[in-house]
Amino acid sequence: MSTRTPLMAGNWKMNLNHLEAIAHVQKLAFALTDKDYDAVEVAVLVPFTDLRSVQTLVDGDKLKIKYGAQDLSAHESGAYTGEISGAMLSKLKCAFVAVGHSERRQYHAESDELCNAKVKAAYQHGLTPILCVGEELDVREAGNAVAHTLAQVEGGLKDIPAEQAETIVIAYEPVWAIGTGKVCGADDAQEVCGAIRGKLAELYSQELADKVRIQYGGSVKSGNVAEIMAQADIDGALVGGASLDADEFVKIVRFRD
Ligand code: PEP
Repeated sequence: MSTRTPLMAGNWKMNLNHLEAIAHVQKLAFALTDKDYDAVEVAVLVPFTDLRSVQTLVDGDKLKIKYGAQDLSAHESGAYTGEISGAMLSKLKCAFVAVGHSERRQYHAESDELCNAKVKAAYQHGLTPILCVGEELDVREAGNAVAHTLAQVEGGLKDIPAEQAETIVIAYEPVWAIGTGKVCGADDAQEVCGAIRGKLAELYSQELADKVRIQYGGSVKSGNVAEIMAQADIDGALVGGASLDADEFVKIVRFRD
């Protein structure tokens, strides 16, 4: 029986302005009880412009919802117009930051090298990276889903010491399942997530691999989350579209009910 606490994280993508963010987090807070928070860790990954509002709400109400950003710069500071540093996120008391989401890899040409630099920047500032990995449809159809995903895991973790790596969260998100309504079969998701844990054991140790939380992401909804969460190596979900509906996200958090 795993001792890993499931992590349910909502990735809002480029949705909800700071006023909508306040209303949304309030709805989550009203709906979730202490029992929910004990059973599952809950986080929202919000647009940069929402962070301060969410922080104020969470601080003021002592809510147990954690929050973070969807990206960060690999650089410390300086002439990088439009970028947000790990130090800035840390100052806003972010707990998490997503790194290498497939939409960043696809639309912003983020490589494994850049993701690795971002993982390092996150740790430098006490943020927990959620490293997103996963294959495109043609890669899966060619039978290379596992190899492709493991290469991304290895690339993202290059030179990351064990004392940092043991806290990372890895989100396996097959690209073809993100925002498409096509969920990866639970067995297929387990196969890749199990292989990710095996890779962590090979890179570090079995003890470390057993500590790391591996999420599944890709069209997760209240109707399919229980089957996904029943898999041995899946410790949570990264939820995009369905996290924008507070009632639906609460149902996902309560997948055991
Ligand atoms: C995501 O944005 O990481 C995601 C998994 O999106 P969706 O749940 O909408 O597929």
